[in-house]
Formats: sequence, C-alpha cells, structure tokens
Amino acid sequence: MKSWSCIENCGACCRFDLAERDNLSEALSSNDIALINSMTSKDGWCKYLDKSNRKCMIYESRPHFCRVNEFSRSFKSYLKNGDKFLIDCCKQHISSIYGKKSNQMKLFKTAISKK
Ligand code: SF4
Ligand code: SF4
Repeated sequence: MKSWSCIENCGACCRFDLAERDNLSEALSSNDIALINSMTSKDGWCKYLDKSNRKCMIYESRPHFCRVNEFSRSFKSYLKNGDKFLIDCCKQHISSIYGKKSNQMKLFKTAISKK
C-alpha cells in the first residue's frame, strides 16, 4: 500500500480557497479561519510561501493546520481511509495548481510509491 509523503518545492496546498475546501470546516476553528484569512495574499497564496523555491518561510513555527501528520487526525476520512485520504488531497491540490501531467505530480507519485 502507498504511504503519503510530502515533496520539496511543491507548496500546492499553500494556496487557500476555503470555498473549494469544504471538508476543512470539520477541522478548523473560527480562530483558525481568521488566521488563514490573515495569512492569505490577494492572489490566494499564503504570504509565508517563498514563491522562488516554493518553501515555507516559517516552517518550524507554521500553524497546526499546516502540520499534515498531526492535522490529518482531525478528519473522519483520514481515520477511515488513512494515507489514501492524504494522497488524494495532495493529488487534488497538485492537479489544480500545476496540472495532472506536471512535473510535481510525477515527483509526488514517485515519492509515494517509494515508501
Ligand atoms: S500538496 Fe502535498 S506534496 Fe505538495 S506541499 Fe502540500 S502536502 Fe506537500
Ligand atoms: S505557513 Fe507555510 S506551510 Fe502553511 S500555508 Fe503558509 S507557506 Fe504553506
């Protein structure tokens, strides 16, 4: 079975559109939503993402909802389906930002099949 893995220089999940991510509502508090709104630039990207290399500039102190290993446990679908839920989420983000046939998608598929 494939295991979830994050790839470097991706950041596809660092673009927020809460209207498109309705499953987040079960796991986010109103304070979290206020924090997300304060972190989001007008173009929808998190202002802490370094766009030159797609790395988080506050990685060590990033909010709890950016810590996938911990945050995933807040989702019923993760508790039921495990890493498949995370893999599907990443594929969705990568596909919508970079495309289904993008280099990031290839790298992601390689990363999850190596584990
Ligand atoms: S979309 Fe997935 S692989 Fe890409 S940065 Fe986010 S968690 Fe990592
Ligand atoms: S804080 Fe870092 S990990 Fe979280 S959305 Fe922003 S850039 Fe991405």
